[in-house]
Amino acid sequence: MEAGDANLHQTDDDGDKSDEEEKEDRATQSLLNKLIRSNVVNNTNQVEVLQRDPNSPLYSVKTFEELRLKPQLLKGVYEMGFNRPSKIQENALPMMLAEPPQNLIAQSQSGTGKTAAFVLAMLSHVDPGLKWPQCLCISPTYELALQTGKVIEQMGKFYPEVKLAYAVRGHKMERGVKIKEQIVIGTPGTVLDWCVKLKLIDPKKIKVFVLDEADVMIATQGHQDQSIRIQRMLPKGCQMLLFSATFEDSVWKFAERVVPDPNIIKLKREEETLDTIKQYYVLCNSKEDKFNALCNIYGAITIAQAMIFCHTRKTANWLAGQLSKEGHQVALLSGEMVVEQRAAVIERFRDGKEKVLITTNVCARGIDVEQVSVVINFDLPLDKDGNPDNETYLHRIGRTGRFGKRGLAVNMVDSQRSMEILKTYERHFNKKIGRLDTDDLDEIE
Ligand code: ADP
Repeated sequence: MEAGDANLHQTDDDGDKSDEEEKEDRATQSLLNKLIRSNVVNNTNQVEVLQRDPNSPLYSVKTFEELRLKPQLLKGVYEMGFNRPSKIQENALPMMLAEPPQNLIAQSQSGTGKTAAFVLAMLSHVDPGLKWPQCLCISPTYELALQTGKVIEQMGKFYPEVKLAYAVRGHKMERGVKIKEQIVIGTPGTVLDWCVKLKLIDPKKIKVFVLDEADVMIATQGHQDQSIRIQRMLPKGCQMLLFSATFEDSVWKFAERVVPDPNIIKLKREEETLDTIKQYYVLCNSKEDKFNALCNIYGAITIAQAMIFCHTRKTANWLAGQLSKEGHQVALLSGEMVVEQRAAVIERFRDGKEKVLITTNVCARGIDVEQVSVVINFDLPLDKDGNPDNETYLHRIGRTGRFGKRGLAVNMVDSQRSMEILKTYERHFNKKIGRLDTDDLDEIE
């Protein structure tokens, strides 16, 4: 590692993070994944369903027609390009649309169709003839609320009688002016204000309550209490729905407080594996040496799309500059960029406009760019104490289930220490990492 890197450690994005920053990251990751995702995530795992009443029949649907949706909603669904329900929707939709309404806690990784499901449920339960809020959805951040709002608008495109209001910061309202929109989406603080202080919403008239991204929600100071206060104002028969991408104990405890007598649906994340990845290492002496090695294999790696991971922003910037000087067109994803800029970079890369994406670990964490088949660890992944980080190594280069294409990973090793770390990865995953001679590339071609 270059000398400067050690000094950078505390201030760079790989340095220690306060809890608050960590939390903000989760919201950012979630938003980025929404912005870049064009398709529902495939998953081969079985959906686990736990019914509140185990004796009632378990319904699942394979088509949207079976749900007997209002024609204008079915049209909206098809207009969005959905042909059939996603895995989680097969079970969740019949439950959410059942009469009498049923409560639901659903967990599955981001991109599996949760938002689309509850949006459809809200739109189905609204009575457009009644001019007051009937569905209330809370999201952890302003940006996430807007994203969900967009889905409501898209899916309700052919149902213009149903209107949507945004209870988010900046949307100033006067006290006592009753809201006529049937669906309200917002962040917990503003929603609480609208219900209690400003009395714009009568919580007693809410029929469907949705709490989205519960894991991100509880990571933000105060949101948990605000959510519970909102929930307590709702009438007894109100349908409560809670969604989360992950399910730690804390999320679970929160979910049980917010959703009484729930049905529970879980879809496990597809496991990542190194089985379909060819792993190599290249021996180098310095950062410059690594750069030269990278140039030697550049032709071979850019047959496909490649992602290059660096430990610090500084290295990532330097490398992007060097490669550009060589005339290569590369994209750089950096922690300095605002979310929209990052999303734009990822989107261009996803669309194949750039073949190489350089990034730091923190910046790319939690983002799935599925078609990447070459990963270069310009620096090996390390945890914040500088020790091997098996989970990150796997997440960087691993592929999920049978959807994974074959992949190639090249690790740049430039010191005794990094060699030791490489050996730890080799042992941990029990998969050989072969030496690559960058002057003789027959191996990888
Ligand atoms: P989640 O809320 O679990 O993150 P979303 O509902 O946002 O997932 O769905 C992820 C992506 O998949 C979105 O682009 C959405 O439009 C799309 N999508 C959702 N359901 C379907 C479906 N049944 N068929 C095709 N695409 C879908």
